[in-house]
Amino acid sequence: MAQLDVREKLEILADAAKYDASCASSGTAKRSSAGQKDGIGSTEGMGICHAYAPDGRCISLLKILLTNSCIFDCHYCINRKSSNVRRARFTAKEVVDLTLAFYRRNYIEGLFLSSGIIRSSDYTMEQIVEVARSLREDHGFRGYIHLKTIPDADPLLLEAAGRHADRLSINIELPTVAGLARLAPEKDSTRIEGAMGALKSSIEDGRDAVKRYRSAPSFAPAGQSTQMIVGADAATDRDIVGRAASLYDRHQLRRVYYSAFSPIPDASTVLPLKRPPLMREHRLYQSDWMMRFYGYRPQEIAAAADPASGMLPLDIDPKLAWALRFRESFPVDVNRAPREALLRVPGLGVKAVDAILATRRWRRLRLEDVARLTRGIAKLRPFLIAADWRPVALADSADPLPQAAAPREQLELFAA
Ligand code: SF4
Repeated sequence: MAQLDVREKLEILADAAKYDASCASSGTAKRSSAGQKDGIGSTEGMGICHAYAPDGRCISLLKILLTNSCIFDCHYCINRKSSNVRRARFTAKEVVDLTLAFYRRNYIEGLFLSSGIIRSSDYTMEQIVEVARSLREDHGFRGYIHLKTIPDADPLLLEAAGRHADRLSINIELPTVAGLARLAPEKDSTRIEGAMGALKSSIEDGRDAVKRYRSAPSFAPAGQSTQMIVGADAATDRDIVGRAASLYDRHQLRRVYYSAFSPIPDASTVLPLKRPPLMREHRLYQSDWMMRFYGYRPQEIAAAADPASGMLPLDIDPKLAWALRFRESFPVDVNRAPREALLRVPGLGVKAVDAILATRRWRRLRLEDVARLTRGIAKLRPFLIAADWRPVALADSADPLPQAAAPREQLELFAA
């Protein structure tokens, strides 16, 4: 590997990390160095600059790889052994110094660290843990740390990672076991899920201990997450939603991130030549939101997909797609319907529904009251009954919705 300075390494290793989607720092314990004699950083947002890319991804963590060299050869990965990319590798100390320097300049709110596999899973995991240990113990860093862990590393190393990190994640990589076997032959879905199960137990034990003894060390207080690549294999949206739901269920994940497969330079020939539309990734995030906050079951999301292809529509959001398939559930009366029914009205979010419930305790809502709580009342009208409004039944209306806007061009986050 050529001798590179830190700036050159940063260029390569921050660029290589862009394929990891994992930016939420929510849900962790509150920590702050304000008013303390030593230490640096906090997990709260004050004074920390958040940047949002055009497609909505948060890019405010220092997000880097320890190295983009890897002894594995996963077909979908630009860092795979057989890829022809320029390689670089940070030392643990370089990552620590960079994190502190960026934090002091208020560029970041924390660190997201992943890595290719260097010599072995254990060796790589030791290096990752050393970064987090040094930040916490040598420098009193109280900011956010998210570590991407290596599933087949020694469980003791995963334990050590959880003692220093806010969040841990293990990539499930592909939605189906067959897809993983074909595209990442050195990975094993049983081992990946086994490691997720072990993390789940440690996280639960850590929470119990903290409840009982205030001084007990916490273990990954922001929980664990995973990432799935979308569009590299033939898995449908229905498959992906089903897989995500079972992971949430079995391993109590905080988040499943979706990453639209992007054809990489020097790509393996077994991969599709075209990327899936980034809108597909967005629709999957919306369906994820529906399960986590709107009370939809995975089978219901699957029912919103096209029955033949199993894919969610790209031109309308999945909540609207579900409503159009189940027109008999509408219109919903804003003055009488239970919360669960209101949450299913396309265009009504959790905040708007809570405001409706609070307001209707003391007066009946008119359509203009609902309009004040949403961004577009036109979309809602066919689905709602208000004190002064009753739509033509959706089932009788040939075209209850405003015409879909002309297709928009998808902006590229990482266009060259
Ligand atoms: S193990 Fe990770 S870094 Fe290595 S080739 Fe597979 S996906 Fe890429």
